[in-house]
Amino acid sequence: MVKKIGILALQGNFQNHKLILDHLGVESTYVRYSSNLDHINGLIIPGGESTTMTKLIDKAGLYESIVSFAAKNPILGTCAGLIMMADNAMDDRVNTLKLLDIDVERNASGRQIHSLVDTLTINYNDVQKKIDVTFIRAPKIVRYGNNVNIIAKYKGEPCAVQSGMHVGLSFHPELNGISIFHKIAFNNIINNRQELHAA
Ligand code: GLN
Repeated sequence: MVKKIGILALQGNFQNHKLILDHLGVESTYVRYSSNLDHINGLIIPGGESTTMTKLIDKAGLYESIVSFAAKNPILGTCAGLIMMADNAMDDRVNTLKLLDIDVERNASGRQIHSLVDTLTINYNDVQKKIDVTFIRAPKIVRYGNNVNIIAKYKGEPCAVQSGMHVGLSFHPELNGISIFHKIAFNNIINNRQELHAA
């Protein structure tokens, strides 16, 4: 069976992730119900608004099913997606999935108008390269556990992390057409590690 990646499409910036996966030639589908998780091999939790995403995950009865899906399959979270994957978002309105051993502070980079595109350096295995990405009301990773691998830092702070199968980013690579994190998170599915250099 062809492997497929799901994109949580309850709210937020999910379409651009589909464009990245289309570009990589990877099958994808939007996830809105628990049953959608039965037919996919990885999941993207996109950017958006983590308080709203919490309510919609709850309403769709997706919390437990995403947690059990994540025990066996890789998850990539961007911005609000990273917040949802954290151990603690230090905000009672956000019910995090606890998939990454990190704590985050929401909106640490300011309001919506303070979004910016900037360059960061990725260090991943033998790959070291500069890429442009977009930060929009980005969360800050304020604590990370020993098992968390830092893939990239921004202004000295971790902004891209990997732990076990999962990858979390405080920014939006999909808004700049950057696919390297999709390749890292879903390397078993995309199977083109040699192309990491091509981002
Ligand atoms: N500030 C948003 C939140 O707290 C995240 C912003 C984003 O995903 N671009 O959920």
